[in-house]
Amino acid sequence: MKRFVYADNAATTPVSELVFEAMKPWLTEFYGNPSSLYRIGQQAKDAVNQARAQVGRALNVAEPINEANDRKPGEIVFTGCGSQADNLAIRGFVEGPSNRGRRHIVTSKIEHHAVLYTCEALEREGWKVTYLDVDRLGRVDPEQLRAVVSDDTAIVSIMAANNEIGTVQDLKAIAEIAHSCGAVFHTDAVQAVGHIPLDVQAMGIDLLSMSAHKFRGPKGVGALYCRKGIMLKPSVFGGGQERGWASGTENVAGMVGLGVAIEDAVTHMPEKMGYVKRLTDRLVEGVMKIPYTHFTGDPENRLPGVASFVFEAIEGEGLILRLDALGVCASTGSACSTGSLDPSHVLMAIGLPHEIAHGSLRLTLGEQNTEEDVDYLIESVTRVVDGLRAMSPVWVNGKPDLTAASNLHG
Ligand code: PLP
Repeated sequence: MKRFVYADNAATTPVSELVFEAMKPWLTEFYGNPSSLYRIGQQAKDAVNQARAQVGRALNVAEPINEANDRKPGEIVFTGCGSQADNLAIRGFVEGPSNRGRRHIVTSKIEHHAVLYTCEALEREGWKVTYLDVDRLGRVDPEQLRAVVSDDTAIVSIMAANNEIGTVQDLKAIAEIAHSCGAVFHTDAVQAVGHIPLDVQAMGIDLLSMSAHKFRGPKGVGALYCRKGIMLKPSVFGGGQERGWASGTENVAGMVGLGVAIEDAVTHMPEKMGYVKRLTDRLVEGVMKIPYTHFTGDPENRLPGVASFVFEAIEGEGLILRLDALGVCASTGSACSTGSLDPSHVLMAIGLPHEIAHGSLRLTLGEQNTEEDVDYLIESVTRVVDGLRAMSPVWVNGKPDLTAASNLHG
């Protein structure tokens, strides 16, 4: 029987009932502008700061709110999304007053475009950027990082967990190496926050980006953790909100939603993510029974809800459309770059041959998924892969035949 199964939680998640209820009054009843001096303005300001404190507790931040003036932002600054947090962290740091003339940036080849394109833009403006390779599981080698950093390195930006293949990086080791040459360490933790434990002090993280909609908060709000003492160049100029680094009237309800969502995710992480991981393991086991299928990413150190595969002799786009017809929401390559026909940069960076990288499928589960969903996913993916292969010119006698592909081109 046809079902609707949302298996694209790395693209976005539904706002939870808890978060929605917490946000509502800040849209309807207490709609004041936090910069206004009268009561509903100040109530809104307090709500924003309460959300800041919730974020601070979730990441073990030393000073989420400025202690010298407890109603000013400290180490947590709200932004409009994860991309803005990434841009503010990298450009804001290298062009800001805390960078004392260093001109080198280190990142990896599998970052989200919010990081990669920021680095590429800076490169065009004269900065030197090193893009580290990853191994076939998507891991950055800390020793490779050690070999490229120098006393000219301003910032090292390596994502906490990859959005396509779910690989989790060794953040503590990376931070230590960044610090050994006097650079700061930024991590794009958009996929990691609320999914795996993060402790900015224990891990040595100086800057960390997040986005509420990846952990059951609303879209259109993110945050940047910026360790005390680091000063950034603003990304938007205007009313001076968020330490003057992200001007604009605050999205109060969104910030409240982010605060409640992160608190809920982190407080209940062992139960919620334990459940999600069990579902994902069952899904991987089922899908891997399809012949000529490869699991992508690190089977050990990965996000609990991410299952990603490549199928030989399959075209990812056809897969997604046929799955959609069966009521399944999934993605291929990067959800953020749909419209592009090139295989994803992440799948290329882990060394997959071009033709195989085209057959990628990412299924990402959340706490709202069930075992029945997983069984339906396995059944649907198997059916669609079989159906597409039956029509494929490069699927001959029950296996992929690449000579058939070269005949086609010839
Ligand atoms: N970084 C990573 C790793 C992501 O997966 C995403 C979104 O998918 C972003 C950054 C951008 O976040 P946002 O959509 O909130 O701008």
